[in-house]
Amino acid sequence: MNLRIFDTREKRKVELVPLRPGKLGIYACGITVYDVCHVGHARMLVAFDVIVRHLRTSGLEVRFVRNVTDIDDKIIRRAAAEGVSAEAVARKYEDAMARDMVALGIAPPDEEPRATASIDEIVALIARLCDQNLAYPAAGDVYFSVESFPSYGALSGQSTSDLQSGARIEVDEDKRNPLDFALWKGAKPGEPQWPSPWGPGRPGWHIECSAMASRYLGETFDIHGGGADLIFPHHENERAQSEGAFGIGTFARHWLHSGMVNFGGEKMSKSLGNVVNIGRVAEAHDLEALRLLFVSAHYRSPLSFDVARQPDGSTTFPDLAAAEDRLDYFYRTLERIDAAGLPPGPPTPGPVLAPADRTVAAFTEAMNDDFNTAAAVGDLYESFVLANKLLDEPKSAPKDVRLRTLSVLRTDLRRCGETLGIFRRVPSAFLLARRERLCRSRGIDAGVVETEIAARAAARASKNFTRADEIRTDLKNRGIELMDTAAGTSWRVV
Ligand SMILES: [Zn+2]
Repeated sequence: MNLRIFDTREKRKVELVPLRPGKLGIYACGITVYDVCHVGHARMLVAFDVIVRHLRTSGLEVRFVRNVTDIDDKIIRRAAAEGVSAEAVARKYEDAMARDMVALGIAPPDEEPRATASIDEIVALIARLCDQNLAYPAAGDVYFSVESFPSYGALSGQSTSDLQSGARIEVDEDKRNPLDFALWKGAKPGEPQWPSPWGPGRPGWHIECSAMASRYLGETFDIHGGGADLIFPHHENERAQSEGAFGIGTFARHWLHSGMVNFGGEKMSKSLGNVVNIGRVAEAHDLEALRLLFVSAHYRSPLSFDVARQPDGSTTFPDLAAAEDRLDYFYRTLERIDAAGLPPGPPTPGPVLAPADRTVAAFTEAMNDDFNTAAAVGDLYESFVLANKLLDEPKSAPKDVRLRTLSVLRTDLRRCGETLGIFRRVPSAFLLARRERLCRSRGIDAGVVETEIAARAAARASKNFTRADEIRTDLKNRGIELMDTAAGTSWRVV
């Protein structure tokens, strides 16, 4: 297959050659369920959703595994703060995550294992590392010995001596080397715990992914992904554990990382108070617009998500508002194509105007070049421009070519949108929902608008065009645009 991907370890684009012809195994690190998901999580989730969709469209039989980290220091701290069990915290935020996934249109993975459901595999993997002297127990904990794994640092492009100079050892840890990391953490009073050969405890974070990836995809598989913030130490450690236990070169054949989201030029962080939750975004905008904002950039690029503070203290999201305007344009175009009276069924053979003659081909080329959704969306935009030109200027092309071109666009634009997870709704569903949201946020009473439109129609019927124009101008000044069609007058908020 002709698909090139940027491999983090290789630091270049490489051809994707599946381990088993026609099949592809992909693992992405999922969410640590100690709080609701934010825009940074959404970007990573959308990136891998689109990647998997494109791999499937390319004809590969994909097995996609994304874990849920449901035991972790942050979950335990949250449970202590709320006076509930760690399990209750994990289940609560796992449910919240599942709702966000549905709202974002993220397809469920083929396997979505929880760390706590893989303790046997985790313990077995740690035992294997101990047997090979790659790990050592110390006072109820078990640590991975970084010195015993010579290529440690290769994924993140760092040498162990660089890392060593920056590392700090905590006073209560019994590590032999500051870079060594915990595979198993001995139980502290009141914490969740499972039995193990080293005493009761719980897994460290990194080991769960090594255990779950091999459980569901085998010791060697095609692609491991996650957000770029996981390259070090999480993915570096996963690689050391798996290649240490199973043999050098056996873990993920390729590493893919999605870029970070910056808020107003700053890294998103809870301490800066600039974390925007997905639920908060959904109150103000259509989440499909968030998807469009993400796919309008390359998945590896950093993405800016501006948060503007208004004089009344509220916040708005200017980049997202602009993306929703673009989505509105796309859906209005699709609605116009649907209403253009085209013959049903597939287009008849014959000439089609450029660039509609190769919408899918251009889209596929862009996606085959390391999932370049930014270029793909740019190409799609050109096809939307053509559609509008053909609808606005019926005489700009011979009738049969015009109708055929619009028919091709009707099918192909949606086909490409399917991979990106956009344009999947009936246009009127998106457009009406957006109009209602804009009416609410601007205090527009839809009933009053409808009454004005009826008054204008009556004025026109009695040939009082001055009055009809006054009504139109008055509505326009209030941000309402009227569209007169054969079927009557419709309206939108602009
Ligand atoms: Zn992971």
